[in-house]
Order: sequence, then structure tokens, then C-alpha cells
Amino acid sequence: MSAAVRKIAFILISIIVVPILLYTALQVNQLEDTEEMMWEIYEQQMNAILFSINQYSNDVVTGLAKQLEYADPLDQPDTVLNHFLNYHKEVVAIHMMDVSSRQVVWMSRDPSESFEDITSTTMADYGDMMERLVRYKKANFMKIEPLGKLGNASEVYGMAFVIEPISGSFVFCLALVEAVDFMEFFLVPKVQQVAADGFVIQFRKSGQSTTVYQTKESTGQEFFVRSLWLLPDYNLEIALHGESIKNIVDERTMLNLSMLGVVIFILIVGVILVFKNIQKEVQLAQTKSDFVSNVSHEIRTPLALISMFAETLLLGRAKSEAKKMEYYDIISKEASRLRNIVNKILNFSQIEANKKQYNKSECDLGGIVDEVLNTYSFHLQNKGFEYELQLAEEPMIILADREAVIEALINLLDNAIKYSPQEKSITVSTRKRASQYLVQVTDKGLGIPPKKRDQIFDKFYRVTEGDIYSVQGAGLGLSIVKHIMDAHEGNIEVESVFGKGSSFKLVFPQITGNKQ
Ligand code: ADP
Repeated sequence: MSAAVRKIAFILISIIVVPILLYTALQVNQLEDTEEMMWEIYEQQMNAILFSINQYSNDVVTGLAKQLEYADPLDQPDTVLNHFLNYHKEVVAIHMMDVSSRQVVWMSRDPSESFEDITSTTMADYGDMMERLVRYKKANFMKIEPLGKLGNASEVYGMAFVIEPISGSFVFCLALVEAVDFMEFFLVPKVQQVAADGFVIQFRKSGQSTTVYQTKESTGQEFFVRSLWLLPDYNLEIALHGESIKNIVDERTMLNLSMLGVVIFILIVGVILVFKNIQKEVQLAQTKSDFVSNVSHEIRTPLALISMFAETLLLGRAKSEAKKMEYYDIISKEASRLRNIVNKILNFSQIEANKKQYNKSECDLGGIVDEVLNTYSFHLQNKGFEYELQLAEEPMIILADREAVIEALINLLDNAIKYSPQEKSITVSTRKRASQYLVQVTDKGLGIPPKKRDQIFDKFYRVTEGDIYSVQGAGLGLSIVKHIMDAHEGNIEVESVFGKGSSFKLVFPQITGNKQ
């Protein structure tokens, strides 16, 4: 990785990746907070509901006490209490004591279960409470005091309060209530209304597994539990109906986390793509600058030779005719080398500007190869190459731009020559493969490292390792060949063993409908 690319990677990481990670951490943290907050709100709501039910039960008993107060019970106790008990089936007995005269009156629904014992002791025992309740009553607050379970066998609970009937004196009252009836008559309608479809509310005696009443079949959630103020042995329990709050919160968290995950994934992929693009651009800029120095070098050598030998000739330093001929020959060869380089660059710039045009006509690929090899054989021999030409016997008619095919082939031959410094042997062959025609140029030269094989067709790309580095070139040849082959709907294939040689194939499609 070059220093420029490293710098870009660092910038990308610091302006995109780091903020993303910080943001994610913040979001995850906030999710936890939200979860906690939702849970707290839920808890508060549940408590508020349970509180309202308890408050309601208190109001109900206050209502009963008020009825008793208006009825002025000490005036005609039997009638009033009889009427009261008939009217309120959940009350099993009522005991009253005139606070100033201490006179006690009581009535029980079932005479066999009078609660006389309980109440007479209770009435005496609760002297302090009575005084307190009177004080409250004087302040206009009718407090209902739960006394807990009073019946030995039955579920009868006591509730104490003080009334102030019209006749003037304060009366300490003890209502004995059948717990289950109390819940059923007074609380169930209210609880049903509160629970509606959203909650399950149930009554359960503490320590028992079965419930006294349940608004709906529970779906296994965790219940919030509060004891009933007036029936302290009983619990009031509430839970959400259907999905539990924990599931809802978990689902929401999962959804949020996965959304966050997707967003982060997209962002990271985006960063990687941007980075790859920049890396490519930086590499291209680097290869372009290499290209300029490569080309300058390639042009400078023939120019120097031409001017040197032209000068020698001009100054008449070439003594013999043979020497002159030798210098002319060098000048001509170097001029043609220069022309080749310039042509290659012009060709390439035409391709880059999308101005390259191909005039295609039917031609015989074998004929083209034969012709190129004929003109090139002198050059090859001159460079000390052995070459072999293996032409397929059948004609290979393709639709092609003759000049372009020649150029592609010459590029391959040039490379084979350039990159074969030691074993100078080249084989050129043509053959048919399925519905394609192939020209293959094989050398026994330096070969191409496997990792670089895909890149050698990129513009300006040159392998910069080992012996190849010393060979001159601009990195344009193979990219031009690739472009020519693409324009002919063909392909270029390469096989190479590093250090042993390479084989390039130009693959042309057969003309459709051609029977050969
Ligand atoms: P140039 O030859 O001017 O460098 P090319 O585009 O023709 O550019 O080739 C790209 C690279 O592919 C070369 O730099 C060379 O490393 C490698 N290459 C091409 N042909 C051969 C070959 N016949 N043998 C070994 N390497 C080759």
C-alpha cells in the first residue's frame, strides 16, 4: 500500500468508520436506556392500576359506611341493621358501639354465627383505634381501617370505621365481610372494566396457587402483585394480556439492532467501495506517471542513436562505404522503432478517446499470420530467434479489420522478442477450437508471475519484478491488443509458467453461418 493510499485509508477510517462505531455504541446504549425506561413506565402503569382498584374498594366501603350514617342506626337499630344486611349480602354481621355511652348494638345475618365473642373483645381491644378514627371523623375524613381475618374457619374479614349519625354521637362500627363475596360483588365489575382486553387481573389468597377470580385465562406472563388494602391476606395481581412487555421490548430492540446492523453494513460496504475506487485511481495516477517516464526513455534511446549516427555521417567520419551503409541501416531501424512507438501511443490515444474505428471485411486469418511472419522473419532471425510457424490447413475466414489484426499480432511478437532474453524460440500457430479460430504465439522467455496475469491487460501496467524490469516498454501493447480483440467480439487468453515462457492466444469467433 502506497503512502497516499495509506493516508486516504486513515482519513476514511477517521471520518466515517470511527463516527459509525461511536454512533452504534451510542445507539446500543440508548436502546438499553429506552428498554429500561419502557419497563419503568410499564411498572408505574401497573402500580397505578392496582392502586386505583384498591382505592375503589376503599370508596365502596366508605359508601357503605355513609349509608349507615344517613340511616341513623342507633335510633332504630334492629330495623336499620336488618335492612342494611338484607341489602348488602357480602356483609355478614355489623357491630356498633356508641363512643360516648359505650352501648353496643350488633346484628348478624346468620344467628348461628353471631361473631359476638370476636366483636365484644375486638370492640374493647380497639380503643386506641377508635379514638384515632373519631379524630379523623372530626376532621371530616371517614377512614376505613382493615382488621384482617376475624372468622376462625370462614373467610370473614373485619373493617372498622366511625360514623356520625344525625342524632349526634360518634359510633364506632365494625363490618364483618365475607372476603370472596366482597370481591365478587364489588370489585369484579370494576376489575373487568379496568382489565378490558389489555390486561389479566386476578385475586389470589397469598400463599395459594389457585386464584379466587381471574378476568381472563393468563398467558403465562409475570404478574405485578399488590395486597388488597381491605383484605390483607389477598393479593391483587395484574399482567399484560397476550404478548408480554418483555417480548415486546425484546422484539423492538431486535428490530432496532438489526436495522442498525443493516445501515452499518451498507455504510461499511460503501466505505470499502470508495476506498477501492480511490486506491484504483491512485494506482492509475502512479502508473500514468511511470508511463511518462517509460515512454520518454523509449523515445530518447532511438533519438540519441539517430542523431549520433547522422552527425557522424554529416561530419564525414564514416570512412568506408560499408561503414556508411551500416550507419544508414542503424538510422533507418531506429527511425522505424521510433515510428512504432509513436504509432502505438497514437493508437492508444485514439482508443482512449473512443475514436478508433475498425473497417471489417471477410479475411483469412491464416493468410494474415503467414504474411506477418514473412515480413517479420528477417527481423526475428536478426535478433537471433528460431521460429516455427504451424498453420492450419483449412482457410479460417473471419470478419475483421486486417490492419488491426496485424497490429495485435505484431504486439504479441514484439513482446515475445522483448521478454525472451535467453532462450530465443518462438512458435506461432493457428487452429480451430469449437466455433472459434485461434492464433497462438508461444515463447520460452521470462514468463509472467501468476498474480500479475490479470493485470497485464490494463493500460500502462507493466510487471516491475525481476529481469522484466530492465526491458523497455510503455505498458500499452497488451491493452491495445485487448481492445482490438473486444472490438472483434473475440478474446485474448494467456498461459504462462514464470521463468519458463508464455503463450498468448488471439481468439476470433467464426463468421456466423460459415460452414467451415
Ligand atoms: P510493455 O511490453 O510495453 O511493457 P504490454 O502491455 O505489451 O506493455 O505488456 C504488459 C506487461 O506484460 C509487460 O510489462 C510484461 O511484464 C508482460 N508481458 C507481456 N508479454 C509478455 C511475454 N511474452 N512474456 C513475459 N511477459 C510479458
